[in-house]
Amino acid sequence: MGKTMAINAGSSSLKFQLIDMPAETVIAKGLVERIGMEDSIFKLEWGTDSVFKLIQPILTHQAAVELVLQHLIEQEILSDIKEITGAGHRVVAGGELFKESALIDEQVIEQVASLAEFAPLHNAAEADVMRAFKRVLPDITMAAVFDTSFHTSMPEVNYLYSLPYEYYEKHKARKYGAHGTSHRYVGRRAAELLGKPFESLKIITCHLGNGASISAIKDGKCLDTSMGFTPLAGLTMGTRTGDIDASIIPFIMKKEGIQDIDAMVNIFNKQSGILGISGVSSDMRDVEQAAAEGHHRAQLALDIFVNRVQKYIGQYVAIMNGVDAIVFTAGIGENSKETREAVIEGISFFGCHIDPVKNDTRKEAIVSTDDSKVVVLNIPTNEEVEIAREVERLK
Ligand code: ADP
Repeated sequence: MGKTMAINAGSSSLKFQLIDMPAETVIAKGLVERIGMEDSIFKLEWGTDSVFKLIQPILTHQAAVELVLQHLIEQEILSDIKEITGAGHRVVAGGELFKESALIDEQVIEQVASLAEFAPLHNAAEADVMRAFKRVLPDITMAAVFDTSFHTSMPEVNYLYSLPYEYYEKHKARKYGAHGTSHRYVGRRAAELLGKPFESLKIITCHLGNGASISAIKDGKCLDTSMGFTPLAGLTMGTRTGDIDASIIPFIMKKEGIQDIDAMVNIFNKQSGILGISGVSSDMRDVEQAAAEGHHRAQLALDIFVNRVQKYIGQYVAIMNGVDAIVFTAGIGENSKETREAVIEGISFFGCHIDPVKNDTRKEAIVSTDDSKVVVLNIPTNEEVEIAREVERLK
């Protein structure tokens, strides 16, 4: 019972939702962007259409947290800060340490900070934000909810790379995956909608946003997922390469005169994927529009995106020896009926068929035909609610 903050901190941003639990209704939400700069932006939304916006220097995550809490009172969204009884912090990298969400104490904060080498842009900021919340609200239930924990059920055969084994033993170099909170949420929700136990199903969840990943979920557990050691692997994404042959790294570095390996990795993270192929944009809507206007490389980017999703679905059908449901979620998955249709119709061999009428939706729905052997669902993800649920569970 009470109001719970679901917090998602990045290197220069802080997103949050204040959620009334257990009703799961959103009371307010907002974000602080460009933390550390002179023109940081703070935006707060609540009620039916109330919005407050501020541009001012917000130099640290601590300052961002204080500003958010101050304005929850000033805008009369809360009458007392003590109405907040819980906070859930999304953490990108939990490594092998965190197989589940964890109640936050100083040791957990230090462990999150120590995992920063797996997620340099995120974990350090997340640890800072946890400390900031602890200072202002020392007595509430605070939980760390890890993007990776749902994937810790992966067996060795799926998380190990075919590298000298000692790299795993010495450095924990292996696949960790990401988006786990979303995969778990939509997977469970699919089981609810199908009226079957989560533990009895084979589900493929396609989280297709700017970052994109696919998971194979068998018996309620993640069996495999497409992101890797970092979120760079797997599908073609907005600006990320997805899977590539590592030999291309020294090849391009030599040809392009790139000296610094970090600069190369940065290109793989920020200038590749749909942006790199199309040359138009990383945003699917822009690329779809350009393709509709006859832009060849935009069309090619869309085709490659769909092709990679199909290949992963094929792999996951194979390793699960079947599939009961395929779920689409996140920005592209939820909103682009064209993408859902293109993916599913190209793999109809598996016994899945889209119903064009049912598929004309952005809401939670079964979008396959009644006689489709594999049920296809559109399920808007809700990572914030999943985080707030974890806080409640640990109270
Ligand atoms: P992330 O959380 O990884 O930043 P999102 O889940 O918000 O990403 O997804 C962003 C992507 O969703 C963008 O590529 C955007 O173009 C795409 N998207 C949003 N609405 C639509 C739509 N109506 N049709 C196609 N793509 C869409």
